[in-house]
Amino acid sequence: MNILVLNTGSSSLKFQIIETDCDMIENHTDKILAKGVIERIGNQAELQFSAPGHPKKIYSKFLRGHKAAIEEIINWITSDESIIDGISSLKDIHAVGHRTVHGAEEFKGSVKVTPEMITKIEECTELAPLHNPANLKGIRAVNETFGENFPQVAVFDTSFHTTMPQVAYIYGIPYKYYEQYKVRRYGFHGTSHRYILQRYCALKNIPIEEGDIISLHLGNGCSAAAIKNGKSIDTTMGMTPLEGLVMGTRCGDIDPSLIEFIAHKENITLEAVYEILNKESGVKGISGVSNDMRDIEAEIAKGNQRADLAMQVFSYRIKKYVGAYLAAMNGAKAIIFTGGIGENGPHSRNIILDNMSFFGIELDQKLNEEITKGKEGIISTPNSKIEVWVIPTNEELVIARDTYQIINNKC
Ligand code: ADP
Repeated sequence: MNILVLNTGSSSLKFQIIETDCDMIENHTDKILAKGVIERIGNQAELQFSAPGHPKKIYSKFLRGHKAAIEEIINWITSDESIIDGISSLKDIHAVGHRTVHGAEEFKGSVKVTPEMITKIEECTELAPLHNPANLKGIRAVNETFGENFPQVAVFDTSFHTTMPQVAYIYGIPYKYYEQYKVRRYGFHGTSHRYILQRYCALKNIPIEEGDIISLHLGNGCSAAAIKNGKSIDTTMGMTPLEGLVMGTRCGDIDPSLIEFIAHKENITLEAVYEILNKESGVKGISGVSNDMRDIEAEIAKGNQRADLAMQVFSYRIKKYVGAYLAAMNGAKAIIFTGGIGENGPHSRNIILDNMSFFGIELDQKLNEEITKGKEGIISTPNSKIEVWVIPTNEELVIARDTYQIINNKC
């Protein structure tokens, strides 16, 4: 079955077409048939499409909205120039899977999209005002281009964390705000953490219920998840993705009092402070250089001390959460790095896990240097009490598999 996986942002759309079925899922042989990115929708958009064995197609075109973007994808995949294996017409796309950001307490797993589900996703919008409306645009655009009854599945970033116990998700504020407004910790990146769990268990040949891991998703957004007996019991992002680790541009955990303090000192609105905390903070804010770890590393090599400080603060926060989760879980079998920095950053991996012999964690320096650029493998020594792995994430694959299983009621 060929699944179109869509990750829709307010002005962007990323897609993959993945062939999957029960047998492929079992044997980890699911195939990516094509992928692409469309940016600046609503403007002169930039489009990049690629399929194995074909040159990348890069061009620019005015696209009024998400429907026009999806039509552009359809035109490409059904045109002679792409010749994607097994796809010659729209009929060869069998279902669409959507990355959907916030499912609140409502969605404990992925669901088939129906008018009733669309209403429920709209109801979660208050908690994710930037993301859910964009995801809904993608769902509606598919309705308009593929037809009302075309099978679609929504896969939520929050679902994996709905197993968190109250002790991990209740904030230390009046309980009535949870009861009245559902103010609580939800967690995000759930699809990535779930992939890491599934892949680790497959590599170790153990059932999911034996997955006791700390998953570190370190990309532009960063989060850690404590996964015990195959279930998320805690994670660093909270009611919004601003909480927890220090990220590319987000501040992570801070003293809430500083929000009013900065607003007062700078004579700016609360909204302006949140904009700073979301877009001008984290590694970018500390270093004054960039939110991109490659730039930070280049600056460190030149002796830039603020860049070095940003790297140290970024890594120290992760180290503290690793310690906290080892306490919350009473130990773990593995710590797993993923995301752009987790997969490619031996330098930060080293700082994060340096000097943790108390926990019996020992990195193999050579393996740590070697495992980058999409490679998967163990980077701890045989003596390490807790294994350390690098596993490249694959959220699209999880979305394709969920879509297949829900549409077919299988596996
Ligand atoms: P997103 O969260 O948007 O999916 P990614 O998972 O692609 O982002 O991660 C982006 C981050 O990965 C950036 O900070 C980037 O600098 C970092 N990164 C990518 N390649 C490398 C590398 N070779 N060394 C260090 N960091 C890298």
